[in-house]
Amino acid sequence: SIRAPAAKKATTLTVAVKCRPLAEKERGRNIVRFSDSHAVRVLDPDLSKDYLDRVQHRTKEKSYCFDHAFGPDSANSEVYKTCISSVISGVVQGLNATVFAYGSTGSGKTYTMVGKPDDPGLMVLSLHTIFDLIKSDKDTDEFDVTCSYLEVYNEVIYDLLEKSSGHLELREDPEQGIVVAGLKCIKVHSADKILELLNLGNSRRKTESTEANATSSRSHAVLEITVKRRQRNKYRDQIMKGKLALVDLAGSERASETNNVGQKLRDGANINRSLLALANCINALGKQQKKGLAYVPYRNSKLTRILKDGLSGNSRTVMVATISPAESQYHHTINTLKYADRAK
Ligand code: ADP
Ligand code: MG
Repeated sequence: SIRAPAAKKATTLTVAVKCRPLAEKERGRNIVRFSDSHAVRVLDPDLSKDYLDRVQHRTKEKSYCFDHAFGPDSANSEVYKTCISSVISGVVQGLNATVFAYGSTGSGKTYTMVGKPDDPGLMVLSLHTIFDLIKSDKDTDEFDVTCSYLEVYNEVIYDLLEKSSGHLELREDPEQGIVVAGLKCIKVHSADKILELLNLGNSRRKTESTEANATSSRSHAVLEITVKRRQRNKYRDQIMKGKLALVDLAGSERASETNNVGQKLRDGANINRSLLALANCINALGKQQKKGLAYVPYRNSKLTRILKDGLSGNSRTVMVATISPAESQYHHTINTLKYADRAK
């Protein structure tokens, strides 16, 4: 069972868990004991610790507590309103932020980040908010919005906005910090334009079937939006710059579990390296929140170096851990909950 605490405070790191609905085919398999096939339940945040302890003692159920917990009936817009919207208004005010979905293949990462027309995901909702906020301040301020979309596959960076992108390298720029050399950065004037680019980029992502799943995404996709702002009349040399990274991570299942060989195994190992490095960064952020400054070890992988600005200083980070309620996914679900739990 998972739940959110009753009281929340303003933080730099927010950990939320989202449990997707059971799919039709998962229901079919367990049609006789339908209700038994749910391996997870999301509990009311107001339940007392005492009550939970008693339930746990009686049922041997494992229980975790996160900043927010969303059940199968929650739409992406609910997740957005609860833990993303305030982060987005910060970006338009010059703050950095990172939002990422973590979970095994099929747990709902892409659904959460990109979504469907009748349930738009966090990327889509964030972009609409950014342009709405810009519109309301257009009379007093000037804005410049750019966007890039890249993929880290096998510790190699590719440009998803380029038709056939070669390998891109990371460079340390004395003024801009870590940059991806040669990455296409497109100026955009509307959310629709970015969404068009996003769809194009998604169709270029590397997908490969593994034994664990028919088609599983083995790459990390990073959509980065930069908002530059300055006042129209005064202080024209003062530019505020806010960066938002929206990340659809590769499946978190372990390479050893998928029983792959050769190329695919190497993918798995590298994906783990990026995920492990990210886990360590998130861990450090959690510590920073509790005990003050801590070193964030972002140097250990391409992904964490790319995300550095959004993982350090006073930037805000939101991790949405996605899980499936299916019994068959129990193992993955526990692993994801443990990872998310360690982050706090
Ligand atoms: P991942 O990106 O983690 O591999 P997907 O986002 O592709 O997983 O989700 C796997 C399947 O579950 C898809 O068919 C998706 O449409 C469905 N799904 C995920 N989350 C939801 C949800 N909240 N409501 C309805 N269907 C969902
Ligand atoms: Mg996906």
